[in-house]
Amino acid sequence: MLFNTRSFTLCSGLKLLVVLCATSLFGCSRSDEAGQCNAAPQAPLRQVVIIGIDGLRADAVSPALTPFLFQLAESHGVAWGKVDVSNGRTQQTYSAPGWISVLTASWASAHGIVDNNSKGPVKVETVFERLHDAKADSRSVLMTSWRPLYDLVQGRLRALPQIHHAAYLRQDDAAVEQEVLTTWRACQPDLAFIHLDAVDDAGHDAAFDPSDPRYAGAVRETDSRIRRLWEKAFGAPSADGATPQRLVIFASDHGGVGNRHGRYSDAERWAPLLAISPPGYPAVNIGSLVDIGQASLDFVTEKRDTH
Ligand SMILES: [Zn+2]
Repeated sequence: MLFNTRSFTLCSGLKLLVVLCATSLFGCSRSDEAGQCNAAPQAPLRQVVIIGIDGLRADAVSPALTPFLFQLAESHGVAWGKVDVSNGRTQQTYSAPGWISVLTASWASAHGIVDNNSKGPVKVETVFERLHDAKADSRSVLMTSWRPLYDLVQGRLRALPQIHHAAYLRQDDAAVEQEVLTTWRACQPDLAFIHLDAVDDAGHDAAFDPSDPRYAGAVRETDSRIRRLWEKAFGAPSADGATPQRLVIFASDHGGVGNRHGRYSDAERWAPLLAISPPGYPAVNIGSLVDIGQASLDFVTEKRDTH
């Protein structure tokens, strides 16, 4: 009798949860946030923006599919490169190990996130923590629509003061874009990681292949989204009218074959990469996925103004 009553209660509770999720404006736990990014007295002199395009194959960067990103490189006199995200076929080509490698400047053998089921905690410091250690008044932001990434990073950042680091989990890329456009001008973090996931979604739904119409469509849409973000946020002055010296890095975590990835084929393990330095600053050479974090920290913590 007692068992039956408890079962009924549990069952009712689950049903209520399902109904609440279905009727919630934001869906069930798809949106979350921690910390806040409020305006500092002054925008930082230097700023790094890392834009992570999940599942972008190296051969998808082209004048036809990514006209904005292609032209951005040309106009800055730099070329798209590519990096082996598998570290010589030793790290599985999944998103969690890849992005945590970007955000810790270390491979999975050190950070411990070997696949998308790795629960963490991440074993080494993130660039957000290292930035905070190096520059006490610094501020940073992470934005994503992929909960595993949000949770892994949040697992490390709970000890940081909330006014110094913010993380936003949003419904999808459109909501991430909206969040950037809403907060950027006032927020002006020293370091931002913006993760866009629609290209990977299209790869799994259709195929990781630039000749696939759905994959190609998602790549084009993401290129347009980045153009809007550039024009209205990353390339624009801050609220006080100053323009920070900005290093902007575009990276991906893996490519894909068919509708999957995780292994070591060339189409999965080579990912495109581009770094745009501010005027007057020497080109930043990034030869590997794990160089991104260190290059970002070096840039943003350098005291010297190159102008
Ligand atoms: Zn994927």
